Amino acid sequence: MEPILYIVVPCYNEEEVLAETTKRLTAKLNAMIKGNVVSSESRIMYVNDGSKDRTWEIINDFYKSNEFVTGVNLSRNRGHQNALLAGLMTAKEYADIVISMDADLQDDIEVLDKFVEEYKNGSEIVYGVRSSRKKDTFFKKHTALAFYKIMEKMGVEIVYNHADYRLMSKRAIEELAGYKEVNLFLRGIIPMIGFKTSTVEYERDKRFAGESKYPLKKMIAFAIDGITSCSIKPIRLITTFGFLIFLISMLLLIYVVIGYFLGNTVAGWPTLMVLMCFFGGFQIMSIGVVGEYVGKIYMETKERPRFIIADKIVK
Ligand code: UDP
Ligand code: MG
Repeated sequence: MEPILYIVVPCYNEEEVLAETTKRLTAKLNAMIKGNVVSSESRIMYVNDGSKDRTWEIINDFYKSNEFVTGVNLSRNRGHQNALLAGLMTAKEYADIVISMDADLQDDIEVLDKFVEEYKNGSEIVYGVRSSRKKDTFFKKHTALAFYKIMEKMGVEIVYNHADYRLMSKRAIEELAGYKEVNLFLRGIIPMIGFKTSTVEYERDKRFAGESKYPLKKMIAFAIDGITSCSIKPIRLITTFGFLIFLISMLLLIYVVIGYFLGNTVAGWPTLMVLMCFFGGFQIMSIGVVGEYVGKIYMETKERPRFIIADKIVK
């Protein structure tokens, strides 16, 4: 018996790409079914993340005309990560394995077979890893690299050059369901699940049509969320830094007391100003970092639902 594969695709204002994506994924699924790679009950599952355009209507049309297309409609826009989670949690009810990918065909669908092959070799999670960033803009390439470096330094375990193109077995998704956090950073959480994992390399293309839904502002917010939801290293760094400053100030104190007895008490205004500005800024920043975590705790204690499903069309 071949495994039932569900391809989960979060969509936010993707009316321009859905027709092409559906066409290519249908062809690919057909080929995989013919080649006895996956079961004929395999499906594409679009998750409409509160799009403001015709995305959901288009998904409905495909649902009627294409036997592979199924859909989940969220009650409003909840962001890529939550939409993805909604898709995974829904798909696990029907599928043996789920592969998540973007709607814009940036992830090369020709490697879908390799994902399934790795699963058949015993992996519960297979990460799609980009082999190069040749097709990225200079800006995207360098901000992305900085992102991985900072994450690593901050103690978040993520797979290098892996976005959200991955296969997860039903079992792995069931374990993922146990991670209840509302500050969702899937790339940081999924490696925590464990099991046997492997990677598949692929070439990432340009967006097929439309604009990126991840402008710089969202990318920075995503990076901060990623760090603060997976690591307390920033707070630890501040504590260490504070302790070092405390030691230095002790030495300064001795210096000042000796100076006082030697009679040089007036000089030092520039030093004073510099130190004042430095510590003022540093303290405000530190309060900000701590506040970031307090905010996270606040959001977590509410335990609000991470997504609400308005409609579900499956067969
Ligand atoms: N997306 C989503 N909700 C959002 C933003 C994006 O579901 O609020 C989806 C989007 O439709 C796409 C995927 O997340 O399928 C990745 O977005 P995009 O391709 O714009 O990001 P980039 O590839 O530029 O990082
Ligand atoms: Mg994209």
